[in-house]
Amino acid sequence: MNVFVVNCGSSSLKYQLINSDTEEVIAKGLCERIGIDGKLTHTPAGKDKYVAEVPMPDHKSAVSYVLDALTDSEHGVIKELSEIGAVGHRIVHGGEKFAASVVITDEVITAIEECNDLAPLHNPANLIGISACRALMPEVPMVAVFDTAFHQTMPEKAYMYGLPYEYYENYKVRKYGFHGTSHSFVSKRLLDIIGKTDTPSKVIICHLGNGSSITAVKDGRSVDTSMGFTPLDGLIMGTRSGSLDPAVVQFLAGKLNVSLDEVINILNKKSGVEGISGVSSDFRDLYAASVSGNARAKVALEMFAYRVAQYIGSYVASMNGVDAIAFTAGIGENNSEMRAMIFEYLGYLGITLDKEANAKRGEELMISTPDSRVKVYVIPTNEELAIARETLALI
Ligand code: AMP
Repeated sequence: MNVFVVNCGSSSLKYQLINSDTEEVIAKGLCERIGIDGKLTHTPAGKDKYVAEVPMPDHKSAVSYVLDALTDSEHGVIKELSEIGAVGHRIVHGGEKFAASVVITDEVITAIEECNDLAPLHNPANLIGISACRALMPEVPMVAVFDTAFHQTMPEKAYMYGLPYEYYENYKVRKYGFHGTSHSFVSKRLLDIIGKTDTPSKVIICHLGNGSSITAVKDGRSVDTSMGFTPLDGLIMGTRSGSLDPAVVQFLAGKLNVSLDEVINILNKKSGVEGISGVSSDFRDLYAASVSGNARAKVALEMFAYRVAQYIGSYVASMNGVDAIAFTAGIGENNSEMRAMIFEYLGYLGITLDKEANAKRGEELMISTPDSRVKVYVIPTNEELAIARETLALI
């Protein structure tokens, strides 16, 4: 069966068509500038890329162009829409309502709407994607896969904030965590590799990309994670500050004479390693700048590695041990230099870096030496495949 995986943003739509039997990507692509003008980039497997600048006044027209591209006689990959057996939608926030993926019904849509407050930029866009697909493929079963669901197993002591309890009761202010699809996918694979699928286990997953988070996974379940009420919390990221003293927000609003919204915007979009270095949010640029003597790029990289190491240490403490650690996502999979910098802090766990293995990038491999007490792996993440698997399992 072919599963259509949709990741809908406010002005963009990413998609993949995956053959669930072979798990091959038959086509993938991106609609950009929806509601502004519109651009479709469609990449069918084994054929030339197709790019079209076409008017996309709304998401329904974007989905319609994608479905046309998928069934087109030249750059298409299927003959007719009936060859799409199911649709899997990535949904950012499921609040406390969703601890697992679900088949989409009218009730589910209402429940997702009720979480809009918690992810005002993302959930409404995700819902638009659902309604656009439902309008064009009314008979096709659809599944919602939530970024937050995997973390719903966190115990209260991990997800509660030190705030008056009624703010949790009244407004659901608590830690939710994100990147759940990736943490779930990579932790399952890691448990497979170390042969602990059915036995007690303690692993730490480091999803290090433009957005980064670390999760402690005990017996296959998330027990703590570095992102919080929003994806702004935790590690220093490409342009996000990560955790800081909340008093800084009010202080900066006063000094800069801007609103709280504007400060949060600065923390999301102008901070992180980009804000620190003044160079870039991309670690390749940062590394190049650091090597050529840029002191701020160097400190940005050091800060990133330091905070990753701190989270690893705190999760070793939370779980009272660790069996294995995995690195994933853009930086985790590709950035040997950053992995080496993080390893500098892990000696106390009996971990030594296998320099030769670590020099490789983008493939599944063990990067700790065979005699390391705790094994460390690189495991490429694949959120689209994870969504396709979840979708298939539910329908
Ligand atoms: P993601 O958000 O998972 O797509 O990760 C994107 C980030 O991964 C980029 O901004 C880079 O910082 C980093 N990255 C990707 N490829 C490389 C590479 N070859 N070397 C170093 N960093 C990389």
